Amino acid sequence: MAIHQQVIKCFFLRNQSLELFCHEKPGCDSHRTDFRLVESDTGQLQRIRLMISPFALKTPFVSGVQADGTATDSWWFIFAKGMLLVHLPGQEPVAICTRSPEQLGLQPIFSKYLGRYASADCFVADLEGEAPVLGDMEFRDLRGLFGALDDDIFCLAGRAIQIVHWHRDHRFCGKCGTAMIDRRSELARKCPNCNFISYPRLSPAVIMSIVRDDHILLARAPRFPAGMYSTLAGFVEPGETLEEAVCREVFEEVALRVDKIRYVASQPWPFPHSLMIGFTSTYKSGEISIDHKELEDARWFSLSELPVLPSKISISRLLIENFISAEAKRGV
Ligand SMILES: [Zn+2]
Repeated sequence: MAIHQQVIKCFFLRNQSLELFCHEKPGCDSHRTDFRLVESDTGQLQRIRLMISPFALKTPFVSGVQADGTATDSWWFIFAKGMLLVHLPGQEPVAICTRSPEQLGLQPIFSKYLGRYASADCFVADLEGEAPVLGDMEFRDLRGLFGALDDDIFCLAGRAIQIVHWHRDHRFCGKCGTAMIDRRSELARKCPNCNFISYPRLSPAVIMSIVRDDHILLARAPRFPAGMYSTLAGFVEPGETLEEAVCREVFEEVALRVDKIRYVASQPWPFPHSLMIGFTSTYKSGEISIDHKELEDARWFSLSELPVLPSKISISRLLIENFISAEAKRGV
């Protein structure tokens, strides 16, 4: 996803913050960057970035539990064995299916309203058993569609598959074993016997760049494509702050200490239910010592010797691109 750089308007707000709007696309609000002006130790005004949402939907999505009947379109995200039904009119897959499972002659074990995107009501459905063969439509692994689908559609499909996983994994109450029932008022399932409520599962994970002077630390796991290195990442543990999770993960994986941890952006990652929360950090101390259960290599890279990098629409790439542009500005 491109982060639009052309900013041509700015507004001073009452609270001394400065909002910079992307005007590359008319009406685009999702690449808005907020800045706050603060006074430094030397009395100068500094511009502090508050928020950037490069992975937000370009068109807002309104989640809901029931359609209000005003939408002109219906989009169905239909899954079988965790794979998404896509059209294949040419080389590029198209994920928008305007026909319901029943209209396609399919019998879902579960279907649900997701919410409204522009003029379309969005629904998800899950099929039991093997993926059927359907003319010019095909079931594809969603992870393999990362970068091939429109960014917003991929996000919606990611939301849909997480609801599928949640439904499949929470059919019965975890406390008493009774079959769970969907609540009508919210996205939740409730046990009719003991009233236990289950919400869709979400697992926060931190992902971080580590910069040491003019080098960035990148690592590779055995599952990565040949030659590719990425930033470190790991799940947040109960009772831990995000910043503590960054420090712990870095120390566990490469035995380094970091500081100056700064939030950059977040990205939903539906494999199976993560929310990636991205940070930059600065090397503080230590020598690289790899946890070989997780990694096969980790190294410091300068701008001129960067390896194969992750996909351009990943938050890891965004963190690396931030390092690249900072280095470029320094004239390296
Ligand atoms: Zn129960």
